[in-house]
Amino acid sequence: MYDLLIKGATVVDPSQSIHGVNDIAIEDGKIARVAPDIPAAEASQVLEVKGKVVTPGLIDLHTHVFAGVNANGVDPNIGGVRAGVTTMVDAGSSGCDTFGGFPRHILPNTDTEIICFLHICRTGLATTPDIFSPASIDLDHTIQTITENRGIISGVKARMVSPALEIMGMEMPRLAKRAAKEAGVPLMVHIGDTEKRYDANVIRELLPILEQGDIVTHYFTANPGGVLDADGKLVPEAREAHERGVWLDTAHGRMNFSFAVGERVIDQGVLPHCISTDLTLPGRARTVHSMTEMMTRFLAMGFTFDQIVTMCTENPAQAAGISDRLGTLHPGKQADLSILDIQEGDWIVYDVIGDSRKADRAVTPVMSIKRGQPYEAAWGPRPWGWAPDTA
Ligand SMILES: [Zn+2]
Repeated sequence: MYDLLIKGATVVDPSQSIHGVNDIAIEDGKIARVAPDIPAAEASQVLEVKGKVVTPGLIDLHTHVFAGVNANGVDPNIGGVRAGVTTMVDAGSSGCDTFGGFPRHILPNTDTEIICFLHICRTGLATTPDIFSPASIDLDHTIQTITENRGIISGVKARMVSPALEIMGMEMPRLAKRAAKEAGVPLMVHIGDTEKRYDANVIRELLPILEQGDIVTHYFTANPGGVLDADGKLVPEAREAHERGVWLDTAHGRMNFSFAVGERVIDQGVLPHCISTDLTLPGRARTVHSMTEMMTRFLAMGFTFDQIVTMCTENPAQAAGISDRLGTLHPGKQADLSILDIQEGDWIVYDVIGDSRKADRAVTPVMSIKRGQPYEAAWGPRPWGWAPDTA
């Protein structure tokens, strides 16, 4: 007898080349079977979701959920299981001096799974600016914190911003890379100087130090230090990084996503691997949106729904080191699913500059299933509801 049977939805799981109407049976928090017409009598609970779409649980590769500690921390359930997202990667909200708050105060109080990348700055994003002196970095304590918290911490985070770069130059990302390497985890690097002060060519020095498995985040940033040169050409180091197996993530956030940059990058043929929100408080600002709204932006940019699902499931699972159990609906894997609605209409979506694009479909959350447990979508991080504006 299955614990839960999800019936009648269009199942989209690019990791298994599945796109069609199927039922999904769940037992003991794991996927038991994906097949058409599994009899309802074989399960103790049945969810009829005809007309909806089911994907592997969405993974948001870049968020900030150190709620109650950092001023920008979002309640992980609001952006997580109540928003159709089953796993969130916290991208450097904490550093070695503050990480202890995660296992003590955040992880026991959320149903959304959280994977942490540890900021190379000792205090994470507790203060702005984060790094204001070379003493903001404690390499040994950073490595020790990662090795003592394996399974929770899966990477190191560094931010290519001022004043950190003005004070330390390339020594800052090099120390972050060293910490990551010695701890045996990937490095995630924020590109684009939000202060708009540092030399934009720094991207050409940064990318060569990244290895296979490392992550560039804010791939479509319009801030100085992004991947386009002054003539709008993709810097050659970006293509080389892509060829080496560096993950390219588009984290939107409040300051780092431009349709125009994205379209120029795409035209030059080096596509992003991952979509993420960079969700922070104030999460109700116009430019800070949920994962399903990010998916809608990518529909507006011309990506197929299946491409988008790969960028929100299989790829971030690999980048965050959790692909042994997440990012797929393969039988035996953790029963994390997202139930989504695709609403046709004349939608309009915005980037951080206020530039807009039209979309004829909008993705909205219906329900999350986390380890076999259902969660209804709640109001979410936006006060005006889930769907984008209409044109
Ligand atoms: Zn961020």
